[in-house]
Amino acid sequence: MSPQQSRPGAGEPLSDEAPLTGTIVAIDGPSGSGKSSVSRAVARALDAAYLDTGAMYRAVTWSCLRDDVNLANHEAVAEQARTVALTMVMDPHRPGVRVDGIDLSRAIREDRVTSVVSVVATNLAVRAELRRRQRLLIADAVAQRGVCVAEGRDVTTVVAPDAAVRILLTASEAARLARRATQNHGQADAASVAATRSQVVDRDRLDSTVSDFTTASDGVVHLDTSDLTFDESVEAVLAIVKGALGSVR
Ligand code: C5P
Repeated sequence: MSPQQSRPGAGEPLSDEAPLTGTIVAIDGPSGSGKSSVSRAVARALDAAYLDTGAMYRAVTWSCLRDDVNLANHEAVAEQARTVALTMVMDPHRPGVRVDGIDLSRAIREDRVTSVVSVVATNLAVRAELRRRQRLLIADAVAQRGVCVAEGRDVTTVVAPDAAVRILLTASEAARLARRATQNHGQADAASVAATRSQVVDRDRLDSTVSDFTTASDGVVHLDTSDLTFDESVEAVLAIVKGALGSVR
C-alpha cells in the first residue's frame, strides 16, 4: 500500500467534513487495552487498511521536540500540527509513520515522546487538525482498499462517529499494567509494573480530560479483554465486525 500523505493543504480532493462512507471499523481504548495490536491483527484478517491515530499524536510531539517548540505554547504547537509533513503508511503488515520522509516507527515509542505526548494531545487546536487529517486518511484508504480499521482514543466518538462498526476495548488496570510492563520490560514483576505505572495511569488521566475512552457511548460495543488472550481478543472483535456487517470480504 502506498504511503498516504497527511499534509495540510491545497488540492485535497476530499473535504474532511464530507460524510465518511464505506466500511470503517473504529476501535478505541485506554493504553494497555491491547487496541493497537488487536486492531492491526483485525485489519490483516480483513485485508483492510490500518490507521494508528496515536502514532500521529506521537509524530507531532516528536517534531515539536526536534524543532524545540515549547509545548506550553499552545499556538506554536498547533501551528506545528498544521504544517508538519506527516505521512502515514496504512499497511497493517508494516504500518509506518514519517515526518519529512524520516521513518519514525521506533522514535515515536521512546520515553521522551511518550512522557509528553498527552501535553500535545490535550491541545484542542492540535486535536482539530489531526481529526481533519485522520478523516481524510480514512476516506482515502476506504476508497483504495474498501475497508479501514482505525484506532485511538476518540475514533468512535469524534473522528469517525459515522463508522459502520464502533468498538471500545477495555481491560482492568491490573491487566493493562501487566501487559505494558511485559511489553516494555519483558516481565510483569512488581518493579516492572511500578516503572510502567506513570506511562499508563498518568497518561490516561490526562488523556481522559479531552476524550472519553472508558465508557462506551451509544451504539459503541464494549469489549472487556481483561480475561482474554490476544488471539481471543482478535476473534471477539472479528465476531463483532461480522455480526454487524455480515461477511466483510
Ligand atoms: O495509542 P498511543 O498510546 O500510541 O497514543 C499516544 C497518545 O496519543 C495518547 O496517550 C493520547 O495522548 C494521544 N491520542 C489521542 N487521541 C487518539 C489517539 C491517541 O489523544 N485518538
